[in-house]
Amino acid sequence: MAPPDTDTRPPLTDEQKDIVRANVKLIAAKFGMKHPLGIYFRESPDINAQYTAGSRGDELLIINTAAVTDLTSRELNAFIAHEMAHRKSFWDNSMRKMTKREGEAFADATSVKVWGDPEALISAIQKNHDKKFTDREYVEYAHQFGNKTNLRKYDKASDEEKKALTRKAHVFMYPLSSEPHPAPTDREFIEMANEWGNRTSAEKYDKAPEAEKSELLRKAHFYMYPRTYSEPNPPFTDREFVEIANISGNKTNLREYDKASDEDKSKLVTGARDYMKKREHDNQYPPLQERIDAIRAAAVQQKDHVGLSPQMQKALADFKINQNQAEGNYLPMNKTVPEGKFIG
Ligand SMILES: [Zn+2]
Repeated sequence: MAPPDTDTRPPLTDEQKDIVRANVKLIAAKFGMKHPLGIYFRESPDINAQYTAGSRGDELLIINTAAVTDLTSRELNAFIAHEMAHRKSFWDNSMRKMTKREGEAFADATSVKVWGDPEALISAIQKNHDKKFTDREYVEYAHQFGNKTNLRKYDKASDEEKKALTRKAHVFMYPLSSEPHPAPTDREFIEMANEWGNRTSAEKYDKAPEAEKSELLRKAHFYMYPRTYSEPNPPFTDREFVEIANISGNKTNLREYDKASDEDKSKLVTGARDYMKKREHDNQYPPLQERIDAIRAAAVQQKDHVGLSPQMQKALADFKINQNQAEGNYLPMNKTVPEGKFIG
């Protein structure tokens, strides 16, 4: 049976917060980072934490309230050590060289190497993965990523509206997590792409004649492709695909494509497809089992780390705490947390 849909988490007590702050300090010291770090407790049902560094040198560890309430202290500490590894690789500049996927594998392995509690890290990740959101929690969660519906609006809605708002939250999150069930309808896809910045609104789509509708839908898919990797039906033409890949950073542009011979064209299309496949792979979190295997491997200090390029494996092997360097990096604290999207 689904949990009741009006539940609210009790606010964290000052004591709970103080314990977390003390642990962050302890873990940071183990990483050789004794300078202050802003800590922000974000009201959130997602068992997660996030390290962010702003362009002006302000840095913040965001700890979701559910991570404090749903994890054991050992699990939370291992999780914080994972974030501290992100922080360390931000400071020694190795983060810039990593894909998102590699960054996660690196932070896991470094957490194990420095903090050394692999089983706690695994069970924390497992809890994050297994968490079942209530509808209300899911709406709250999606709002943190930029979906318009907030809890105030949700709580005032009728049961029927609540269902629709929950569905909307799932469709909104589709580019970030998995596809909602059932898959988005064409109209929902248009609406979702519009929320993500595509120009066509649902109203414009509704008013368009049938023939134009399919073109608008195609454009929305084109706009969203680098995030959803889903193609319209019929799929993109080769030329369209070359353009999408180019927008996403592939070097072949349409001018080059149009001038190419037929044989070269097909090579360029294959190149664009491969580029996007790699991009999708690099931008994803490692799958759960891969993460667990990599953490266990790091725990027994295996030489080959799953999910890390040879270059990153070397970085991990060379990872040493330089006390002087760490202490030199003093930063002003900024306790305000920006509103809006937190991805990753
Ligand atoms: Zn991470």
